Amino acid sequence: MVQVHNFSAGPCVLPQDVFKEASEALLNFDDLGLSIVEISHRSSNFIAVMEEARSLVKELLEVPSGYNVLFLQGGASLGFLTVAYNMIGAKKKAAYINTGSWAEKASKEFGHLGEADIIASSADKNFSYIPKGIKIGDDYDYLHLTSNNTISGTQFKHFPSSATPMVCDMSSDIFSRKINVADFDIIYAGAQKNMGPAGTAVYIFKEEILGKSSVKIPTMLDLNTHAKKDSMFNTPPVFAIYVSMLNLRWLKRNGGIEWIEKVNQQKADLLYNEIDSNPLFRGSTEVEDRSNMNATFLLTEETLTDTFNDMWAAANISGIKGHRSVGGYRASMYNALPIESVQTLVEVMQELAKKHG
Ligand code: PMP
Repeated sequence: MVQVHNFSAGPCVLPQDVFKEASEALLNFDDLGLSIVEISHRSSNFIAVMEEARSLVKELLEVPSGYNVLFLQGGASLGFLTVAYNMIGAKKKAAYINTGSWAEKASKEFGHLGEADIIASSADKNFSYIPKGIKIGDDYDYLHLTSNNTISGTQFKHFPSSATPMVCDMSSDIFSRKINVADFDIIYAGAQKNMGPAGTAVYIFKEEILGKSSVKIPTMLDLNTHAKKDSMFNTPPVFAIYVSMLNLRWLKRNGGIEWIEKVNQQKADLLYNEIDSNPLFRGSTEVEDRSNMNATFLLTEETLTDTFNDMWAAANISGIKGHRSVGGYRASMYNALPIESVQTLVEVMQELAKKHG
């Protein structure tokens, strides 16, 4: 099999070891003679998977006591509504920072229940920066942030400090860097970037928020429903959770968040240095807000588009076409992407400059 350098924005690269173990478990899980996808989710073997996955999240992110961790269905998009239902209080108003289309979609979901105020936005420059100096009034039930903007390629390097409870969609950078969980009332993330395959989302939340909503929450959207049943209220997406657990084991085995944060920084430095030093390329975002997960960049000579596209495709690079709203290129460098893949992309960029620069 040729090695493909997978820069896809998500679903995305996961470690080969994880795929191997997961494929074995599809045929024979825990030596039961049964597949992971054909055993009962109530079996002790699967309950052990769920519990290990939840405890790995707690361990890797140093989740403080008083917080719970759940693996739910519906992806981060359902999370937009789930957090709204669980966090809406007496004020019936929430503050959103609009740093891109996912942030905007999140704010729209709050609109089903109350008033979503966009208190800061980078829409004026096509989301190419993170708004700074954000002032949050005290008339909001919570403040919502999107830590990493997968499409435009920006990332909060520092989170605002706020007396208002904070909720964060960390779909595209969870487990990539150290965070202080205690700063947030809810962190949620779809699995399909740094955690596992699509099909589940992780929720990390302060237990004291439960039961405080000012509206009646539909059963499946109520975090309390799932908390009371240890994430087993209904049939969980067993395979997605199993592979996530294997992937979190991989992260722990290799040195955890401290290790991956360094590796991710090395990969980002390698690519951004090339973008900045190669005359044929320029970054799409403000330098200080550049995402370490999704690097967005443009060719300075558009006439070289076909040539560059042929060159990276020939080098077995996949998934670097930019999102249609930004154009150009987006190289997603999630946890499992080897630094060699970034090196390969950098060499192709250098080759282009040598021939056409
Ligand atoms: N938030 C962010 C930051 C995302 O990148 C995505 C998906 N790429 C979503 C939310 C939506 O996630 P899902 O597809 O799991 O609903």
